[in-house]
Amino acid sequence: MKCYNCGSTDFFEKKRSMHLGIYCRSCLTWITWKEQENDWKQFKMPIGKYKGQHLPDIPEEYRKWCVENMNHKFVRYIKESLNV
Ligand SMILES: [Zn+2]
Repeated sequence: MKCYNCGSTDFFEKKRSMHLGIYCRSCLTWITWKEQENDWKQFKMPIGKYKGQHLPDIPEEYRKWCVENMNHKFVRYIKESLNV
């Protein structure tokens, strides 16, 4: 991987809201987003009876219920947790 702006191969990572970006250290150009496969494992349920708990600790039945009955943005994490 090379910076398309200056050709440098020296990068650093910086968190931007939910994503981890990779940037060139010499010219600060954004290069790409880093895949964060385990996002949903870090996610804590923000509402409901399992509030504050990580998804792997929440029963599958309840997670399925959330996917069917909730339309919050975070439901995508719950979907990911069910596809494993
Ligand atoms: Zn650069």
